[in-house]
This record gives sequence, C-alpha cells and structure tokens, in this order.
Amino acid sequence: MPRKSDPLATYNEKRDFAKTAEPAGKVGPRKGKALTFMVQKHDASRLHYDLRLEMDGTLKSWAVTRGPSLDPADKRLAVRTEDHPLSYATFEGTIPKGQYGGGTVMLWDRGHWIPHPDKDPRKTIEEGHLHFTLEGERMKGEWVMFRLKPRGKERGENWILKKVDDDYAGSPTGLTEKYLTSIKTGRTMNEIAEGKAPPRNGEGDRGAKRRGGGGGTGAGPPPPRSARSPSPSRGGFRDQMRAASATARAQPSGERLVTL
Ligand code: MN
Repeated sequence: MPRKSDPLATYNEKRDFAKTAEPAGKVGPRKGKALTFMVQKHDASRLHYDLRLEMDGTLKSWAVTRGPSLDPADKRLAVRTEDHPLSYATFEGTIPKGQYGGGTVMLWDRGHWIPHPDKDPRKTIEEGHLHFTLEGERMKGEWVMFRLKPRGKERGENWILKKVDDDYAGSPTGLTEKYLTSIKTGRTMNEIAEGKAPPRNGEGDRGAKRRGGGGGTGAGPPPPRSARSPSPSRGGFRDQMRAASATARAQPSGERLVTL
C-alpha cells in the first residue's frame, strides 16, 4: 500500500457515500487498551473474507480469498486492501451493485487481537510479517501472516494467513463451513441480501460487545479459559516464518480478485 498522509484516502476515493451505506472514512482515536479485529464475509464479484486488524486508528485489511483455516498446513492467500475506518467494524448490509465492493457483507467474527509480545506490529507489518493471538468468537489462538515477494510487475500485496499449531488448531473446514451466520444479527448471507430485519432478541451490538469474546449469538464455541499470548514455539518464531515462507513459494497462482 502506498503511504499517504491520510491513511484512509484510498478508502474514501473508492466509494460514493451518497450511494453506499458504508461509513465515510475518518481516522479514529484508539478506543480502549485492547485492539479490535473483525472478519466480514463479503459476497462481491468473488466471495471472500475481509480480515481487519485495528492499528493506529484505522483497520489494516486483507481479503482472504478462501477464508481462514484452522489447519496449520493451510496457507490462505490474503490480498492486502486499503485501510478501513474503525467505524467499519460493525458494518453489515448490502453495497449497491456498481459501487466498489458491490455485494452482501456479513459481520462474521469479531473480538480482540494481541500482537506477539516481542514484536511491534507497526514495524513488522512494514517488514512483511505479523504474529498475533486472536480472541474472537470464532477465530482463536495464534496466527501468523507474511507477505509474499511480488511477482513481475505486481503492485498489490499478497500475504499468507496461517494458523499456528496450538490448542485451537483444527481441520480446514472448522471455521468457514461451520459458521454460516452473522455474529452480529444471526442472519445468513441470503437474509442479509434480502434485507431481512435482524431478530429483536437483544442481540444487538451493545449486548454482544459487553459480553466480550464470549458466546456470541449462542452458535460460537465456549470462551477461552484465559487470555493467551503467543508463546515462542518449537524452533522459534523466526524459523517458523522461514519455513512458512519457503513453502509458500509454491502457493497457488492465479488467485486474484476482481473486487475486494
Ligand atoms: Mn471485501
């Protein structure tokens, strides 16, 4: 991503706020000590999952084409996209056809992310890697991300998202095939697309936020026993990154998105 004085300039340029219900981009203050993260399932020209991590008053964003996998052997392509405003965190709805990202957006997961204690994510994101723990309602445990070397004249940033082998690791289908409804409203993609009203059972934003990373709409797994930080794993983080980078060279090519 090119550096601009306004990190949300690209976000705002891409959108016509008279036509889309998405929020206009303004860099926000950091709200609390904990950094938020969220995933939005987005049925645009191609279905993908937008992973967003709060950093410096914006949401650093990646479009994960096949969604996250709990299998540490799975390396999921994550195409870096423009920083989004913090106010995007709760967005769910339909972006009109013809607008940037036109299609249905579901709030699929949310919670907090904890950078690896030995790593400054502001620095490592520039160097091309991130290591963190997620305390989401669906995504939990340790994850790593790393940027692939650009091929040819490629201008975008292709990253890999990968689960670290810990207690939360599991099968490739443990997340995207298991959880098909909104964490915010319980609606399916079709129900959001049809504009079906969210159920009025107090499962609004506020109630869920107050419960923290816990049970969500009742569909989620039990909350973690305690807040876990990434621990230095066998061979160390650096070795792990090196091994992951090496194997990622063989990542599937031709996976490019038309609209993110
Ligand atoms: Mn998207």
